[in-house]
Amino acid sequence: MKVIKFGGTSVGSAGPLRNVKEIAESRDGSLVVVVSALGGVTDTLLECARKAEKGDESYKSVFEGIKERHLNLISSILGGSCDGPVSEIPGMMKELETLLDGVSTLGVLPPKTAAQIVSFGERMSSRIVAAMLDGAVLFDPLTFIKTRVVEGRTMLDGEKTESLVKKAFEGFDKSHGIAVVPGFISTDTLSGEITNLGRGGSDYTASIIAAALDAESLEIWTDVDGFMTADPRIIKTSYVIDELSFAEAMELCNFGAKVIYPPALYPVYPKDIPVHIKNTFNPSAKGSVIRRESSPLTRAVTGISSIDNACLITVSGASMAGIIGVDSRIFNVLAHHGISVFLVCQSSSETNISLGVMEDCADLACELLEKEFEHEISEGSMSPVQIHHGLATVAIVGEKMKRNAGIAGKLFSVLGRNGISIIACAQGTEERNISFVIEKKHLRKALNVIHDSFFLSVYQELNLFICGIGTVGGQLLGQISAQREKLMKERNLKLNVVGIARSNRGVFDRDGIDLSGWREALAGGRELNPATLRDEVIGMNIFNSVFVDCTASSEVASLYKDFFEHGISVVAANKIAASSEYGNYAALKALARKRGVKYLFETNVGAGLPIINTINALRNSGDKIQKIEAVVSGTLNFIFNTLSEDIPFSQTVRMAKEQGFSEPDPRIDLSGKDVIRKLVILAREAGFVVNQEDVDARLFIPKEFFDCPIEEFWEKLPGLDAAFEKERRRLAAEHKRWRFVARIEDGKYSVGLDEFVEGHSFYVLEGSNNIVLLTTERYHEHPMLIQGYGAGASVTAAGVFADIISIANIA
Ligand code: ADP
Ligand code: ASP
Ligand code: MG
Repeated sequence: MKVIKFGGTSVGSAGPLRNVKEIAESRDGSLVVVVSALGGVTDTLLECARKAEKGDESYKSVFEGIKERHLNLISSILGGSCDGPVSEIPGMMKELETLLDGVSTLGVLPPKTAAQIVSFGERMSSRIVAAMLDGAVLFDPLTFIKTRVVEGRTMLDGEKTESLVKKAFEGFDKSHGIAVVPGFISTDTLSGEITNLGRGGSDYTASIIAAALDAESLEIWTDVDGFMTADPRIIKTSYVIDELSFAEAMELCNFGAKVIYPPALYPVYPKDIPVHIKNTFNPSAKGSVIRRESSPLTRAVTGISSIDNACLITVSGASMAGIIGVDSRIFNVLAHHGISVFLVCQSSSETNISLGVMEDCADLACELLEKEFEHEISEGSMSPVQIHHGLATVAIVGEKMKRNAGIAGKLFSVLGRNGISIIACAQGTEERNISFVIEKKHLRKALNVIHDSFFLSVYQELNLFICGIGTVGGQLLGQISAQREKLMKERNLKLNVVGIARSNRGVFDRDGIDLSGWREALAGGRELNPATLRDEVIGMNIFNSVFVDCTASSEVASLYKDFFEHGISVVAANKIAASSEYGNYAALKALARKRGVKYLFETNVGAGLPIINTINALRNSGDKIQKIEAVVSGTLNFIFNTLSEDIPFSQTVRMAKEQGFSEPDPRIDLSGKDVIRKLVILAREAGFVVNQEDVDARLFIPKEFFDCPIEEFWEKLPGLDAAFEKERRRLAAEHKRWRFVARIEDGKYSVGLDEFVEGHSFYVLEGSNNIVLLTTERYHEHPMLIQGYGAGASVTAAGVFADIISIANIA
């Protein structure tokens, strides 16, 4: 014999009800079918009763809605036939209406009336299901599911119920029939009044019957494919756990995994009756099974659950350690008032104890404890009781966490890296559950980051904010869009672009922006300024966030600090921060390190060429950089390589701008400013303390060209063409070429235009190529040479992309 239970959504409408019929009727052997009220009806009945209590006449229309919903279902499932079990429904409706009218007239809703009202949900749904299933017999749980009141709470009267269930189902096992039982509802052993097993209690009804009748198995049919690694409504990447142990399931359900009502596991556990979780909407899915032993194949962490309505109450005092029996007094007073404590943390100094309680009883708990320790608080041996609202509690659960070193370390380090601090935590010697308390606003992020890092998800995720959609940002979005699928398949890396912003507009979506239409999405986005951009990025509070700066804006660069503080990594094509005042650069790097996030800016020098990474690798392995000579202005190289008899200087500058090789204002390149920034960045990464003012810059264009408005600059530029042509001819005759070189040597830093003869490694340097010569302790006689494309939107975007991917390796 089997017991199967269908939840509210499974019986809530005609479509799934047809599946219910097929599932139930296809079984051999006898079957007990436990049903919930139609989805949402319990809530609606309660709402209706409360409205009636308050004298709100709209309870009548709510009641009519309930009635209509049932009648519609009867007509679509049973063709409107009102024979058999459903014949009682109209009478029940009348009874319910009379009860509601009574509540409205008297203006009171005693708990027993509420229980009576709410019981109609299951009483009616079960009649529809019984009428629908061929040969089904309706059983009445009001005669065999019994409750008692203990310390003011309604509890199952286990012994009584077991014997009554056995009696009610005597001989049923051999009947090969189908019994339909309304879930959730019960009666009080002493008074006989209608009660219930608590919200979600239909699971409990099913489990009680399964245990009393020694069923082969219990099946819980619901609206998800099984018991998932985390709440699927929060974690999109959660997936079904094939097998889990009772202990694991209890830890998860007790703590927010709504898929089973926690007490429902107690009756079947001692009898080792397996519990299957199945999806009525997808019956062929394998589902999950809960049994005594967990599968040897499961991971260390089986699942994560959470609650978001937690409070911490802290009882403390310097001399508390000397007072005998503080803990027992705390727990006694709370227990007497039916307040349950779900988490306890006490430091070994015994000077404080923090208790996790649900929000709805926190104020009462605080009051009771203040009263209990009134004397100690007034004489100063204990401090006033503290209460901390607005918290969430998360539990990670797994049988195999036991004796598996490093789980807690990993857990807390990934949370720390994402800027989430732990307010309290608890782990018992069973090592099956680590629970911790955090600010409620961090809950979604915490769940995602834990899910991601314990490889519960199939994918690792990075959530990207792309700021700046000029040539580099635009190319980057194109490259991400083209590579996403491949990265997902081959690297299990999921890149979500969760924000795109340009100077005054941005679009944000935590589920990811569809990159095929990002321009339209951005056009429809909202107005932004740097401060609101910062608030938006930080406020979204998404795990594994990376802010990608493809702007040249100092205002955007000034946001990095706040991003690091909030656990957000930064990848910058923008050179401003790394070349800013040394103290700022050093502080940013130190802060990123302290927060466990990344600050990467490889493309600041040589676009996609691996220059900064190489310098870091050399230094990390103990080498010392002695000298750097570098041609790192793709723009200036392009200009001097393009300059010819036919193309005058002014035109080369224009071409550099038009082809995307120069900064938006090419004077940043011509003045050497861009090279100075790059040199400062290289020098700093090589271990030198240097600022832009320390660099000796030799200008090759008169100063007045830099002090005028940009339009005037363009106008005046052709005036330099003749002089450049003269010099160009001289160089050509001498077999020399111009290169704008950055030098770091013997504590001196310089940039300037130099001439190189044929044969020098700087002589042949095509187009916008860059070249860097690194002389180090190890690479002394033959310096290391890095050469290649050093400018251009696509290689720069590719370099930014590479920085982004490298973050995935640490996240
Ligand atoms: P029913 O009405 O069938 O009893 P419930 O709504 O009580 O269904 O429980 C199923 C719901 O539990 C799912 O729709 C899902 O949103 C939620 N849920 C929360 N945590 C989990 C989890 N870890 N695994 C599966 N479902 C979960
Ligand atoms: N109908 C009840 C509720 O909504 C019981 C259940 O669905 O399990 O809580
Ligand atoms: Mg349920």
